[in-house]
Amino acid sequence: MKRRDFIKTTGAAALFAACPRRCRAADDIEHVIVELSNPAIAYSPGKCEECGDCLAVCKDEMGVWGSFDLTKTKSRPICIHCGQCTAVCKYAAVTARPEQKAVATAIADPDVFVTVSTAPSVRVSLGECFGADPGTNVEGQIVAALRKLGANAVFDTTFGADLTVTEEASELLRRVKEKRVLPQFTSCCPAWVKFAETFYPEFIPNLSTAKSPIGMQGSVIKTWFANKRGLAPKNIFNVALTPCTAKKFEIRRPEMEVDGARATDAVLTVRELAQWLKQAGINPLTLAPEPYDDLMGRGSGAGVIFGNTGGVMEAALRTAHFYATGQNPPAAFLDYAPVRGMGGVRSARVEALNLNVAIVHGTANARKLLAKIKAGEAQYDFIEVMACRGGCIGGGGQPRTAIPPTDAVRQARIKGLYTLDTGAAKRLSHENPQVQTLYKDFFDAPLSEKAHRLLHTTYTDRSPDLG
Ligand code: SF4
Repeated sequence: MKRRDFIKTTGAAALFAACPRRCRAADDIEHVIVELSNPAIAYSPGKCEECGDCLAVCKDEMGVWGSFDLTKTKSRPICIHCGQCTAVCKYAAVTARPEQKAVATAIADPDVFVTVSTAPSVRVSLGECFGADPGTNVEGQIVAALRKLGANAVFDTTFGADLTVTEEASELLRRVKEKRVLPQFTSCCPAWVKFAETFYPEFIPNLSTAKSPIGMQGSVIKTWFANKRGLAPKNIFNVALTPCTAKKFEIRRPEMEVDGARATDAVLTVRELAQWLKQAGINPLTLAPEPYDDLMGRGSGAGVIFGNTGGVMEAALRTAHFYATGQNPPAAFLDYAPVRGMGGVRSARVEALNLNVAIVHGTANARKLLAKIKAGEAQYDFIEVMACRGGCIGGGGQPRTAIPPTDAVRQARIKGLYTLDTGAAKRLSHENPQVQTLYKDFFDAPLSEKAHRLLHTTYTDRSPDLG
């Protein structure tokens, strides 16, 4: 479309006239369009060399760019906040929107209690920013480094992952038993959730209502933990350390609030933390490992593999087996090869549970699978979808050890997580003793009324955004 026609049709003059790179029409666009209101992604025009790599990954891997029409969206770009554009940008022109200052301000306030929870995948990636090989486990050093920065308590989001598994597996079995809507889709990836809400709202009833591990962690910190420690929730500043830029969007969703307030107050990506540590002169690799704080500081091996493609599925199947049969899964379930690997769309028949399952990474791949489901060419009971290639170990906030990211780096991180799972004292989410205490003490049972209120969520049809 010619510039004049484009602007005449869309009234897009304001957006394109404001483009710092002087893009004047859709055909001119050589970089992702990032709105100033985007809570996750920022764009620095002065650094942009218009190589187009950001648009390519948004289109080819994420299935977003090219799947909406700016003339219909009134020039508003669709963004699922995955941050893959930030991972491929050689010039660091597209970056995560930083939140270090907000966290530092909270730490400096003596009346504020700052909690930081570290996501499963960050333990095998943060070391890369300081020269360690991809996949090196630096969990204890991260805990020590966060305490040096001033965090009052450091928790493991693997605890939240175990809680998510427990609720999600229970929900799956109830859907099967009561012949409710299937397949059930995982909901722990906020970029996938926004993708579905925008492009496939007909599948919203299929999304598990279970909050993500970070969502559950925040809910528990602002209720159960606050009560245990005698803290007012408003005096807790809860931070999530993540591989993920989309979590900056997720924590701001009104649906994720607890009693009308944010459950998670800030998200730091791995790169943001590494930058902060370097500025503070702290090299975590030189620190002695420290344990997490009590109450929410333990996770199972199943929770750890939440960080890689296929890991959520494998973790959920382990616990679903226990809930369905009353027995823990056999050894073959503990290294369940059919759901592992790097294939963009993988599937398996789980005879022991009478389930057909599929695993997808890359939302462009999700389009292919959803098309088959809609055409009646594929039938599944449970589907894991992660937006980023490799899952969260390939998240938009991970270290830029290779630009663009390579599968060699992704697979080294995945190997690191599987190694931790294999060596874990507990490999089943429902056997996490701290999760068991939480249910006994507070939630009673999975899917209880209180669990529904605090650990589950709702979704929004965003298809009107497409115009
Ligand atoms: Fe975030 Fe993980 Fe989803 Fe990537 S795959 S958008 S890192 S939750």
